[in-house]
Amino acid sequence: MSIIYNFSAGPAVLPKEVLQRAQQEMLDWHGRGMSVMEMSHRGEEFMSIIAKTESDLRELVGIPNHYKILFLQGGASSQFAMVPMNLLRGKRKADYVNTGQWSQKAIDEARKYCQVNIAASSEDACFTYAPSPESWVIDSNTAYVHYTPNETIGGVEFNWVPDLAQITGGKIDAPLVADMSSNILSRPLDVTPFGLIYAGAQKNIGPAGLVLVIIREDLLNTPIAGTPTMYAYKTHADHHSMYNTPPTYAIYIMGLVLDWLIQRGGLSEMEKINIVKANLLYELIDSSDFYRCPVSKPDRSRMNIPFTLKDSSLDNEFLKQAKARGLLQLKGHRSVGGMRASIYNAMPYEGVVALVSFMKEFEKTHA
Ligand SMILES: *Cc1c(COP(=O)(O)O)cnc(C)c1O
Repeated sequence: MSIIYNFSAGPAVLPKEVLQRAQQEMLDWHGRGMSVMEMSHRGEEFMSIIAKTESDLRELVGIPNHYKILFLQGGASSQFAMVPMNLLRGKRKADYVNTGQWSQKAIDEARKYCQVNIAASSEDACFTYAPSPESWVIDSNTAYVHYTPNETIGGVEFNWVPDLAQITGGKIDAPLVADMSSNILSRPLDVTPFGLIYAGAQKNIGPAGLVLVIIREDLLNTPIAGTPTMYAYKTHADHHSMYNTPPTYAIYIMGLVLDWLIQRGGLSEMEKINIVKANLLYELIDSSDFYRCPVSKPDRSRMNIPFTLKDSSLDNEFLKQAKARGLLQLKGHRSVGGMRASIYNAMPYEGVVALVSFMKEFEKTHA
């Protein structure tokens, strides 16, 4: 098998060691003679898998007991509706920070349930920066404040956590909600400033089909009238994510990914490696006139690195030659064009080195 590096934004690369272990355990998990996919979700085997996955996540991140961990389905996109359905709590307004396409989708969905106040936006500069906390204006009757810490398409990442008490001068006490689909587990995370965190698994946690929710216990309320049972956080919290059949195999793979992260030294080690990987690529882009990254420097994502070529008529040639070298899925999102390299936890350092050396060579022969 030839070596390839997969720069897809999601579903994304998984650690090779994880896939190898899944392969070893595929037909016979721990001597039970069957695959995890075939097990009853209420049997003792799967119950032990989900319990260990949860306790490993609690330990790896440091999640206190007054936060519930839910293993849901429907992707991060279903959270765009579940958040307002469950967190409005009798209020009629919610605040959103608009930093690009994923924020925008969350906003569009929330508008079906409430009045949305745009607390801050970077639309004035084509979503190339993270609006500074001084610019946030939060509605005094807001139910919650939602933002997207890493815009997967635009490559804008908040390298700071908003402090709502400070932003509102201590006047507004609303839970902070974050869509961490594309940067969760990429660096240490203190969950306590947040009321709710959600993340689709297919970027940095595991396979598609699972969405992780971390919710502060006091926010497990009765949702708005008419909310389907499956769309109430409380349903899943009360039943330990076993109200119905959870995405068992995806949870099992998530457990293997957590083992892998723990073995590699945890989130602060991952952060160190992620900084090194991202810097390698940004340094090349910034040192050349041939490549360009539109994102403001302090707000550049460590996970998703969009860049353009000086001459976009070379895009197809770039992609073709990259592919011939085993550097795959570098095409930018269809809405923005150009290139995008997604370098999540599972992208090895060697993959970024291979990309950078290809880019240097391509520049030399085409500049
Ligand atoms: C991928 C992504 C989503 C959408 O996830 P689905 O699981 O496809 O619904 C939402 N938000 C962010 C930040 C993403 O990266």
